[in-house]
Amino acid sequence: MSKNIKLEHPRDQITRIISRIYKRGMTTTSGGNISIIDEHGDIWVTPSAIDKGSLRASDIICVKKDGTVVGKHKPSSEFPFHKAIYEARPDIKSVIHAHPPALVSFSIVRKIPNTNIISQAKHVCGPIGYAKYELPGSNKLGDVIAEEFKKGFKAVIMENHGTVLGGSDLTDAFERFEMLEFCARTILYGSQIGTPNYLTDEQIDNFHKQAAHILPEMELTEHYPEEVERRLQICKIVQRSCEQGLMTSSYGTVSMRWKDNDFLITPTNVSRWDMSLEDIVQIKDGKREKGKTPSRATWIHQEIYNNNPDVNSIIMTQSPYLMAFGVTNSYLNVRTIPESWIFLQDIPMVKYGTHFKFNNNSDIVENCTTALIIENDSVIVTGDKLLQTFDYLEVAEFSAKSIVLGASLGEMVPINDDQVEELREKFLS
Ligand SMILES: [Zn+2]
Repeated sequence: MSKNIKLEHPRDQITRIISRIYKRGMTTTSGGNISIIDEHGDIWVTPSAIDKGSLRASDIICVKKDGTVVGKHKPSSEFPFHKAIYEARPDIKSVIHAHPPALVSFSIVRKIPNTNIISQAKHVCGPIGYAKYELPGSNKLGDVIAEEFKKGFKAVIMENHGTVLGGSDLTDAFERFEMLEFCARTILYGSQIGTPNYLTDEQIDNFHKQAAHILPEMELTEHYPEEVERRLQICKIVQRSCEQGLMTSSYGTVSMRWKDNDFLITPTNVSRWDMSLEDIVQIKDGKREKGKTPSRATWIHQEIYNNNPDVNSIIMTQSPYLMAFGVTNSYLNVRTIPESWIFLQDIPMVKYGTHFKFNNNSDIVENCTTALIIENDSVIVTGDKLLQTFDYLEVAEFSAKSIVLGASLGEMVPINDDQVEELREKFLS
């Protein structure tokens, strides 16, 4: 499950990521292309007009530094702009180009998504460039894109076309691509139910300052079979969350109580898509496993376990439809869908910043609800078994999606208080 990218051949990295992009609905069969430039200056690139849903490592083309093409297909028709980016920016080692639907929406109304919509997005994406329309596949298109990258951007919206992202490696480029599309989706969905609110740069800086709160290290870490088994469960749920669009590379924390108030939690700065058993961090008696950096939200998880003995697993994540509510400060009324209400009850929302330790705010941790939204940041879902908690997250996201989609049809009608009481008596008492 773990991916040490340096030890994975460029061909294999490209096929792994293109299939991930295809499965997540961020490219069509024919659209999109990925490249990696290696230490020799040779460029590995996806072929032209080959099915993105079933691409194999042997389909990847290598365009040598001297221009020789090695491989059984023609390189992508957009190869000229990949090459132009590498020439303009020696720090960029990988490029992703695609036509993901939400970013294409921005490109056809000729706007750039504002990444201050979600706490970490500005940091992940950096400032966003904008390349004027030019004929696809032309050298002219390569020129306008390279011009944007020369200005220092690593993420560029291509007018009436799509997007192109660069990274220090393919994982970095993918993380930026996924986050930019996530921002675009959140803004679009939010705009259907209200007006998106953006964070100030200061609010975002405060988010990044939290990293300083690090727990002391434990001397020795013991791994019991039950502990190892929970690591596996966490990794599987993280993977599944990414695949289902309920978590992205750069944000999302999963934990499981292990013994008393001790727990296992996902680390910070590891791509959620590539998490492995040994990345998971054990927290015991308020200390962290030696040499590992747990999520910055560790203190919230600790406080929730301390205060809520029935909670044995926690997922904190960003999913686009739940965040549509979180960025517009709209109330997510689960009383519209009785079976969602049975699982979730009412979903409160707390202010951005409530989740920072230095604010020492207890809104989140005492009497915690099954699901809670933190403005412009995340959703926290708690439960007993981890699979059950994951199901609550899915139910919450589906409910949010139904309400967002329904908004264009007419006014939604929740069930009344008597009907809610009837549900409470039958299912919750
Ligand atoms: Zn294209």
